[in-house]
Amino acid sequence: MTEPTVIRVRFPDGMEDFFPAGTLAAEALSKWNPAQSGSSLAALWNGFPVDLTFRLAADGAVAPLTFEDRAGREILEHSSAHLVAKGLVETVPDARPTHGPPTEEGFYYDFDVRPLTPGDLDGVRSAMARSIRAREPFVRRELSRSDAEKLFASNPHKLRYLADTPEGETISVYDTGTFTDLCRGPHVPSTEWLEGVHILGFSAITQEDSSARPLQRIRGVGFPTRTQLDEYLKMRKEAEARDHRVVGPKLELFTFVDEAPGFPIWLPNGMIVVHELEKFVREHLAAAGYQEIRTPLMFAQSVYETSGHWEHYRDDMFLTEVEGRTYGWKPMNCPGSMLIFRSRARSYRELPMRLAEFAPLHRFEASGTLHGLTRVREFVQDDAHIFVTEEQAEGEIRTLLAWIERAFSTFRLEWSCELSTRPAKFLGEKEVWDKAEATLERVLKSSGVKYRVAAGEGGFYAPKIDIHIRDSLGRPWQTGTIQLDYQMPIRFGLAYQGPDGQLHTPVVVHRTILGTWERFLGVLLEHVAGRLPPWLAPLQVQVLPVTDRHAAAASGLVEELRAQGIRAGAVGTEESIAKRVRNAEVQRLPYIVVLGDKEIADGSVTLRLRGSRETRSLSRPELLAYVTEKVRKREFDP
Ligand SMILES: [Zn+2]
Ligand SMILES: [Zn+2]
Repeated sequence: MTEPTVIRVRFPDGMEDFFPAGTLAAEALSKWNPAQSGSSLAALWNGFPVDLTFRLAADGAVAPLTFEDRAGREILEHSSAHLVAKGLVETVPDARPTHGPPTEEGFYYDFDVRPLTPGDLDGVRSAMARSIRAREPFVRRELSRSDAEKLFASNPHKLRYLADTPEGETISVYDTGTFTDLCRGPHVPSTEWLEGVHILGFSAITQEDSSARPLQRIRGVGFPTRTQLDEYLKMRKEAEARDHRVVGPKLELFTFVDEAPGFPIWLPNGMIVVHELEKFVREHLAAAGYQEIRTPLMFAQSVYETSGHWEHYRDDMFLTEVEGRTYGWKPMNCPGSMLIFRSRARSYRELPMRLAEFAPLHRFEASGTLHGLTRVREFVQDDAHIFVTEEQAEGEIRTLLAWIERAFSTFRLEWSCELSTRPAKFLGEKEVWDKAEATLERVLKSSGVKYRVAAGEGGFYAPKIDIHIRDSLGRPWQTGTIQLDYQMPIRFGLAYQGPDGQLHTPVVVHRTILGTWERFLGVLLEHVAGRLPPWLAPLQVQVLPVTDRHAAAASGLVEELRAQGIRAGAVGTEESIAKRVRNAEVQRLPYIVVLGDKEIADGSVTLRLRGSRETRSLSRPELLAYVTEKVRKREFDP
């Protein structure tokens, strides 16, 4: 077979062009869109990330990758890790680099080396700055296994990675100046892209073989420009001040104990917030025709074999032996909902059947990955399973997008979607996946929702729309997900009788919108810096009598507020009024009401708004009307 001399290349907007075979990805992209080509740091070739210097040898699709794309960001972070390794090897020549992957926040690189000192990091920083100034290119070389083994003869870690590389897979290294690392790539074109690299710190990491000396991990972040890095560092400082792991216990919302790592303990104030969130969601469920169910927390292994979790998800489940039988704590609500649907004969007249469940779920997360409320082992989702005919699916998903908009705007959170398509490991037929993916994309397109495609990141049983929110610090978080599933109904043998009298298999829409109460509340606390909107605040109004003389009037006002469903309390006069106002502010209470001689004389109250020195004089009925209105409408104030 002869190689083609001219190839046909397709671009993301559907444009096609012809190029000589061997054209660089960068050349094709800059011909397609000259104005944007400077912002690409790598490319996608038929969906796979490649260097801009990758040579296009056959017909295919090319797309730019920028720092705004997740894959692009990961390439820049990983290139930064190479730069750190280069810097450390120049500073401590006998350091052996092991591996340096991108992370959610940035990157790290682990080294087999004596314990590091802060002085070593200074050396690394200077070496990195030199390399960035020199604009050293990342150059890919492919080589034979034996040449690679010679090259890394003094580094047992790299030799182990080489041994783990399957026969037949291309072995490549990347040179940056005098530094060479074993790597699949791709990378940014040159160190010029790494101007915004920053080392966050270092720590010792125990090796799998615990008799070996600990590895030294250097953690960092990378950005294409210094300005982006500065913005990030500013945001990070603000984020530390807002950390929900500090704010939550201070507001007495939740706590954790060593005896149950990753299992949140909800305190009375926290339960109020959770109940308010549930109430908010249940109002929508009632209006949208959902029914609530509750199914067991544990099922025998066979149920998960049917659902596919046993094969694909077992390592993330808690298992229990009872009377010689293996049970799994449910990691998701799906199996229970399937069993309810199957519990009797169903007719098309019952569809769409919308079953909501707020059950505690359990997933095994390694202890090292646990993080406050945002990464836990036990949680509750605003979960539901909607059983529909194939034709009904689109309409249901459209309705969901409207609820998502309403839900997140209530919290002043921006949101967008990611369409995650068929992964490498999947259940069912490729054609059915294509159909489901097309339905999801059609709804997204026609609803005008902001979305991007994450190729290959769907769940094992269905493609999904992941919902991403952006908090007030600009940080992205994944919350809910909508999955269009043809597989699980088949696996559970679900059927309904259609108008034709025949049995048909329903389709299931799995959906959770806010995600888990735990994670959502963790994000929300940081988003609002602990200043929960009045409707969510555990205590909404704090009444402060100026002296003992005013205590009776204060408790009268508290009773009046409580009668209207407002959470109100009064604080005694043991401490000065100034101190009590300050305490209430520390507690981030929405409304502080002061009652003294003047107020009692004219039947008014003095209202302090949170976060401001401004006070307002209101009559008692005005106060009641004002607070109940803000709470009822679920408004922020301020
Ligand atoms: Zn690498
Ligand atoms: Zn589900």
